[in-house]
Amino acid sequence: MKRFKDPVGMPYSIYAILNSGGEIIVKCSQCEGPASIRYLSDEQEVIVRCSSCLYQSRQQPRYAYSVAAICTHCERWFNQPLHNRRQFGQKQVHFPCPHCNRVNRVAVRKQDTGYWQMPEIYQGREPYFNLELYFMDDYRGQQVWALNREHLSYLLDYISADLRENSMYFQVIRTASHPIPKYMKEAKNRDGIVRLLRKMQMKHSPSSGRKEG
Ligand SMILES: [Zn+2]
Ligand SMILES: [Zn+2]
Repeated sequence: MKRFKDPVGMPYSIYAILNSGGEIIVKCSQCEGPASIRYLSDEQEVIVRCSSCLYQSRQQPRYAYSVAAICTHCERWFNQPLHNRRQFGQKQVHFPCPHCNRVNRVAVRKQDTGYWQMPEIYQGREPYFNLELYFMDDYRGQQVWALNREHLSYLLDYISADLRENSMYFQVIRTASHPIPKYMKEAKNRDGIVRLLRKMQMKHSPSSGRKEG
C-alpha cells in the first residue's frame, strides 16, 4: 500500500515557490517551448526566460497597476485594477468604463504596495506575464496543471497514494493538498488523472535531467 504524508503549509503556491528560489515552467510566448519564471530577490523582480529563443521579460510583483478617470460618456468616476500585464509598461491605455462600457483613454497608475499581490493561476495562466503553464492538460473538460516538475511529482504521489496521512491536521492546519481541485482527488478520476500526470512528466523541460537546487 502506498502511503502519503502531506506536507504542512502551502509549499506549492506561486509565492512560496518563487520566494524559495524555485521556478515556474510556462510556455514561451515566442517559441512555445518551456520557459522558466524565477524571482530575483536583489532586483525584487520576477523574470521569465526562455533558453531556446532567449526571450525574456521582467515584472515587479510588489507593484499594483490601476486606472482611474471620469468617463467621457457617462461622466461617472471609476477606479479599476489593471490585469493585463502588457499594459503595465504603457503610459495610457484604452479601458472600458465599468458603468457604461464606453472605451476611455486613461493614464496607468503604478503604486508600490509594499507587499506581493496574492499571485494565483487563472485559467491556466500565471499572473505576471499571463503565460500558459507548460505542464497543463485537460481531463474531461477540467484543467489539470502543475507549476513545475517538483509540483508534478507531488501531485502524482498525492493522487496515486492509497492512504493519506493528513487526518490529524484535518481542518486545523492547511496542508499542501488544500488547493488541489476536488475532481482531481475523486476516486473515480484517480487512474485517469494519474495517467495524465505521467504523460506530462514525459514532456521535455529545462529542468529535466538535472536536479534543482
Ligand atoms: Zn522561446
Ligand atoms: Zn461611462
